[in-house]
Amino acid sequence: MSKVVLLDCKTYEVESIMDKMDKGIELVGGWDKYVNQGSKVLLKVNLIGPKDSESGAVTHSEFVRALVRILKGKGCEVWIGDSSGGAIAGIAPTAGSMKKSGLEKVALEEGAVIKNFDAGGIVTVVPESGLVKEMHLAKPMFEADVVINLPKLKTHSAAIYTGAVKNVFGCIPGLKKADFHKLAPNPADFGEIIADIHKACKISLHIMDGITAMQGEGPTAGKTYQAGKMLISEDPLALDTVAAKMLKLTVEDVPILKTARKRGLGESELKNIKLMGDFDTVPVLTGFMLPKRFSSSKKQNYGAVIKVIDFLKSRPVIDKKLCKNCNTCVESCPVKAIDKATKVINYNACIECMCCHELCMYKAVKLKKDNWIAGAMMKLYRGNYR
Ligand code: SF4
Ligand code: SF4
Repeated sequence: MSKVVLLDCKTYEVESIMDKMDKGIELVGGWDKYVNQGSKVLLKVNLIGPKDSESGAVTHSEFVRALVRILKGKGCEVWIGDSSGGAIAGIAPTAGSMKKSGLEKVALEEGAVIKNFDAGGIVTVVPESGLVKEMHLAKPMFEADVVINLPKLKTHSAAIYTGAVKNVFGCIPGLKKADFHKLAPNPADFGEIIADIHKACKISLHIMDGITAMQGEGPTAGKTYQAGKMLISEDPLALDTVAAKMLKLTVEDVPILKTARKRGLGESELKNIKLMGDFDTVPVLTGFMLPKRFSSSKKQNYGAVIKVIDFLKSRPVIDKKLCKNCNTCVESCPVKAIDKATKVINYNACIECMCCHELCMYKAVKLKKDNWIAGAMMKLYRGNYR
């Protein structure tokens, strides 16, 4: 039976987080089970792009600081690593993201080492799914003695939810990520790539920063939600099953988690998950907003009626008033569907991966219905559904 520790953790006050982490780890076996004096421990954060820690888009720097302090206190060598999505002027913005998030400062102050996955070498693996012949993953994931995954609790405009399972996508260095979006634009297929990464890397622990979550149109353009939670597990799927339940979602609602279940990444039945910590049952986050696309994905359950309104899909549209012409979306679009000069999207080429929406740091890529009737109908539908 998989264990998930769910803790109340209301602030980013470092001592308080350290205390909660220590208590939580004790429930899954204690720190000695995972690290020794001298262990090289990699903290795989969620550093989606150059966002500050208060945005709710990245693993909070104080959350990471707390864990660095605990591990340094145990005599470990601590690394902080990830590769950000998208591209600015032809390169992934990971170095800038480390600075903007405050993680570079944390590393400097606490004696940790930053591992920029775009510049730290690669290891070539043969993916189990066979979707591609080989996959290049960030070398630090294999050089560390222990890897701890530090996902953020967030919605995702394309994948509905993102947590411990999906957070490994950053193990693909730099601009190679776009190739995988192109190869598998459908979230269920994308889940095969995510599962391949989990199977190739050995991750000992998953500790989710669910203190300030992101709701609505995550993973970067949503709004913050004070969830006040920390989740700990050795099983990424079990952790996400519990986190999803807090958002009133099931594994069935999240295609990547369905694929993770199929690929045997962990436990996805709540009755087979031992919930520990501060809760006997999974609490629901009241009023938490899901992405607009969630209702579109649910519509598959309503057969013929829904086919009639299948044209209600939301599409990315660039708001020129908000656009700063940074061209991140243009460079990151896996099928080159965005015109650099006009910022008009060619919907015949668009594969609806939502990378442009995910990676625009200025919230200038909106998800809009095709027409006002569609918008109104979907609003009504969503209202009825919830
Ligand atoms: S839409 Fe966003 S990502 Fe694209 S050019 Fe404008 S500001 Fe940059
Ligand atoms: S336009 Fe946006 S949603 Fe469409 S393929 Fe390009 S990045 Fe993906």
